[in-house]
Amino acid sequence: METGTRSCDVCGEAQPVYRQVYSGVSFCAPCFKKSVEKRVRKTISRYSLLREDDRILVAVSGGKDSLSLLKILARIEREYPRASLVAVSIDEGIPGYREEALRHAADMCRRLGVEHRVYTFEELFGVGLTEAMSRGVLSRLGLGACSLCGVWRRKAISLAARELKATVVATAHTLDDIVQTYIMDILRGEYPKAPLGLRREGAGIIPRVAPLRLVPEEEVVLYAYLSRIPFQEIPCPNAQNSQRELVRTFLAQFESKYPGSLFAALKTIESKIMPREEALTPCQLCGEPASKTICRACELEGQVSFVLSETARLVGANVGVDDVQGVD
Ligand code: SF4
Repeated sequence: METGTRSCDVCGEAQPVYRQVYSGVSFCAPCFKKSVEKRVRKTISRYSLLREDDRILVAVSGGKDSLSLLKILARIEREYPRASLVAVSIDEGIPGYREEALRHAADMCRRLGVEHRVYTFEELFGVGLTEAMSRGVLSRLGLGACSLCGVWRRKAISLAARELKATVVATAHTLDDIVQTYIMDILRGEYPKAPLGLRREGAGIIPRVAPLRLVPEEEVVLYAYLSRIPFQEIPCPNAQNSQRELVRTFLAQFESKYPGSLFAALKTIESKIMPREEALTPCQLCGEPASKTICRACELEGQVSFVLSETARLVGANVGVDDVQGVD
């Protein structure tokens, strides 16, 4: 990558590989990797994301972000003998997509000596995502693939965290992911409710943290590349139709024209727009944090199983799926 300077601004010696436009600093490869790791450490300590005796569940999809996070956390965890790590991958049941990512996740865990567990939508919710789509569930419920997938993946991670006795869940959400989520909330007419990726405790609730929340996605990609982390590059076949993809494209173009905009958006939304934090309340069915008495994941689980059983009954009675009316 052309940087326009002759030597790294940090060590003053090696050839730079990356110019961080929003700060004006050029980095050589080793200094760049160190700067990302240092930023993750600073984020953890600035927001008290992790404790010395945490059992940390790292949600690992097998993509660049989660594998980079796992590598960095594995290094940090070695310095804290009372802490432990377990990696969890969720197989949503998207044939031809998740398999490669799961292989990368398993390989990385083996190399780092981290326990790795895989949970599937099929075993947790009775149906994989693609199967749910092909059986007409999403169209009946008026949902996009990512809406169901995102809610169930979150729930799957929570169920895994309970089973594995994790005290905290670390996700690989980057600066870009977090700003995208806030903007999507605003575009849907909702206020972003609470800062994402900061440790929020509540009775019976396992907190979620995002140690990459101050690292732009572009830098995580470069970190993975320079660290020679093999990761899955093919996007999910459902991604192109998602609302997130539209917001992602817009924000990436805006950031490239006006560097630093993502940091500015994060700061403004979290300090000026966000309402006062509400206490987390547990879902009456599963105990996970919910904004209503029943969480969205439990609500969807009930609706999906209703549609599946209705469809099976009607197909048995030789009635087409299209004949089935909407679900309440
Ligand atoms: Fe799930 Fe959507 Fe992500 Fe695909 S792009 S894995 S459907 S959330």
